Amino acid sequence: MGSKVWLNGDLVGRDDAKISVFDHGVLYGDGVFEGIRSYGGKLFRLDAHVRRLYDSARGIRLAIPMTPQEIAKAIADTLAANGLADSYIRVVVTRGAGTLGLDPNRCTHPNVFIICDKIALYPQELYENGLEVITAATMRNHPNAVNPRLKSLNYLNNILAKIEAIDAGTFEAVMLNHLGYVAECTGDNLFIVRDATLFTPPISAGILEGITRDEIIAIARAEGTEVREENLTRHDLYVADECFLTGTAAEVIPVVRIDKRPIGEGKPGPVTKRLAEEFRRRTRA
Ligand code: PMP
Repeated sequence: MGSKVWLNGDLVGRDDAKISVFDHGVLYGDGVFEGIRSYGGKLFRLDAHVRRLYDSARGIRLAIPMTPQEIAKAIADTLAANGLADSYIRVVVTRGAGTLGLDPNRCTHPNVFIICDKIALYPQELYENGLEVITAATMRNHPNAVNPRLKSLNYLNNILAKIEAIDAGTFEAVMLNHLGYVAECTGDNLFIVRDATLFTPPISAGILEGITRDEIIAIARAEGTEVREENLTRHDLYVADECFLTGTAAEVIPVVRIDKRPIGEGKPGPVTKRLAEEFRRRTRA
């Protein structure tokens, strides 16, 4: 259990880590966040996460009251204070306390907090045998509404799809975009393998530009596997040889059933296993 939370410059006990009920992060989901992993005490791709945090903040016109270097140091300090070698770190920047109206200009002090804890998103057994997912009826946010590239505190879109997944007895749901193409899952990016080529939806499909996604693309290209960022339909998923999801918390997890249909052989495939293995090696290096 993480015991120290970094809150606006201080490391405080978790019971003392409190923010105002007038914070627009609470009232309106007005804020941004990041999820970062540490492996063996080292922060995985910290710079990429800090950069995305600032991009998300810019996207919602929120000025983070710290420099990227200060945030990076605060993250490292939080990790050190919690004594967890392998952890999941949540960095959150809210608009801050304001009035009950929407006007963000009434919120003068953004709140910044960093939580360091353990995370186990899926049971280990699913990493070996694969996950079953459904396609959600809830579509992914339109990029011209709340752009999925923003890692904002407004996760209701994803939560609604997650509820559908849970109702269907599964852990995850594939979300389609406003054009009917595959976007991503509620907290993970999606890949398929077809004829030894890796396919994943492009950023323009309305997805979060996942850092794990980026790492997997790099790993695949480095080993000579062709990677194509292309629009995918549900049909493409159903006829895929393999499918897997990527995310900071989930890492790389095989998908073996979608909408009750077995994918490929109905068990984790060789390309998925190879990429997951190399991802493991890189994170634990
Ligand atoms: N899509 C969504 C909606 C997410 O919330 C996340 C992060 N959990 C991802 C994709 C994966 O991104 P990353 O690999 O950077 O964690």
